[in-house]
Amino acid sequence: MYNGIAASRGIGIGSICVIAEHELKYEAKKIEDTESEQKRFNEAIEKFKVETSEMAEDIRKRIGPKEAEILEGHLVMISDPTMAGEMSKMIAAGQCAESAVEAVCDMFIGMFSKMEDELMQQRASDIGDIKVSLLKILLGIEDIDISKVAPGTVLVARDLTPSMTSQIVKENVVGIITEVGGKTSHSAILARALEIPAVLSVPDITTIVKDKDTAIVDGTEGCVYINPEGDILSGYIIKREEFIKKQAELKKFFGKETVTADGVGVELFCNIGTPKDAKKAVECDGEGIGLFRSEFLFMDNNHMPSEDEQFAAYREAAETMGGKSVIIRTLDIGGDKDIPYLNMKKEENPFLGYRAVRYCLGNRDSYMIQLRAIVRASAYGKVKIMVPLVTCVEEIRAVKEMVSGIKDDFDEQGIAYDKDIEVGCMIETPSASLIADLLAKEADFFSIGTNDLTQYTMSVDRGNADVAYLYSTFQPSVLRSIRQIIEAGRNAGITVGMCGEAAADPLMIPLLLSFGLNEFSVNPVLVLTARCIISKWSKEEADALTEKVMALSTEAEIVAALKEASKE
Ligand code: PEP
Ligand code: MG
Repeated sequence: MYNGIAASRGIGIGSICVIAEHELKYEAKKIEDTESEQKRFNEAIEKFKVETSEMAEDIRKRIGPKEAEILEGHLVMISDPTMAGEMSKMIAAGQCAESAVEAVCDMFIGMFSKMEDELMQQRASDIGDIKVSLLKILLGIEDIDISKVAPGTVLVARDLTPSMTSQIVKENVVGIITEVGGKTSHSAILARALEIPAVLSVPDITTIVKDKDTAIVDGTEGCVYINPEGDILSGYIIKREEFIKKQAELKKFFGKETVTADGVGVELFCNIGTPKDAKKAVECDGEGIGLFRSEFLFMDNNHMPSEDEQFAAYREAAETMGGKSVIIRTLDIGGDKDIPYLNMKKEENPFLGYRAVRYCLGNRDSYMIQLRAIVRASAYGKVKIMVPLVTCVEEIRAVKEMVSGIKDDFDEQGIAYDKDIEVGCMIETPSASLIADLLAKEADFFSIGTNDLTQYTMSVDRGNADVAYLYSTFQPSVLRSIRQIIEAGRNAGITVGMCGEAAADPLMIPLLLSFGLNEFSVNPVLVLTARCIISKWSKEEADALTEKVMALSTEAEIVAALKEASKE
């Protein structure tokens, strides 16, 4: 058995497909027969064109025209006579095709990356992609097409990039195992959205397994079995059936209110990344959007989205939710989230650097565009503004001042908006937690971001596997922090929500009910699970368990006590 991080619940049993990372090594030899080398090169170019246009067509159909444009750009570049012409000249002079491709691409990359213009910078990275693809063809390296893996596949990779994950066909992939990534990495979030069991950060797994090995992926417990013994396999087949049955039983919670066993009502919202996800939230019976991660709008673009583009996205989410709350978090960039066209400086400590609200307040022209778009969208539903990574009162005051200026402008210009639009704070830093009483006087609501609150409170990088053993929301310090944030919010009479992944954790739910959390915001696929668990706890039972747990000294003791009392 191999242990890792339980990143997406459920049990997957299937046949392994390893996604290998290839080294593009070759011997740069002098060529005598330049004619046949030129032929080999021409054939590679043709193959590249055919494969690229097929991929672009597939992406156009499955994802959208915008995503396909990048690959279509590659086709235009390789068809330009300059680049291929230069390569041919080098081959004619006796260089092998591989070194001609590498030298000419590197020359163009060097030239474009020196230019200030964003588009030119992008071109440099496009040529980098072309180089890798051409070298793979010349060296006969076949990449696995993830979208074409057979039904019953368990994907094993060092890491799954968002583009790899976007190729996954849910019906064919029964499990995911990676060597890196934590509970809140993007691959984990995507695996949960696709409802594929996933275990991440399993050391050296890509070298331990081989294609066609049988794997059990226990995404609930965070462990993996390779070619398991008969009794382990049969035990897991039963466990898998039970899990599937439980999921089916959850359906009876569809359309029901979210209440505790003794009738205390709470709100159960969803976390989304795009306006289209709002449909998923409705389909999964979410009662609102507790976190719209607006940075995806920026990350999925090759330019800064204009006010109108952003307005259209926020309005779509507001209209889809039909008057239910839609909390839009303003640009949370930096840390592990880069946007190439913003040309952000490389930092020694990006998680402690110029990011989120700090970056936005330092770039007010673009922040103004986003805030205007959100305020405009408030005319079409119950839109709220949420500010990420707040550490001091001045930050929330500054954002509120900008919003108030926008309202004055809109009044003058006769632009419609919701005059009562709320501005809330994400509480995800120890500083915000310690001054929660002061922030509660300024903010209309709080939402606790436990993913970052855990990272900063425990001083552990949330994506670093070596310190993952410390990254737990059940650490006494993190639990105390959560308790006091909720208390400060309640004392001030504002709503306190939680949009970090902990809000959906079955072990955490009784504690949050006892602390008095008003709103839980979870991945849409976990709405019914969360509603079911909330329904099993009375306030009195949750309080008794919480009192016992909050007196314990270690994370291990706390988790053990919560597991023992679990009603799952
Ligand atoms: C959080 O930090 O808990 C959160 C919800 O935000 P993100 O995961 O996007 O940093
Ligand atoms: Mg965060």
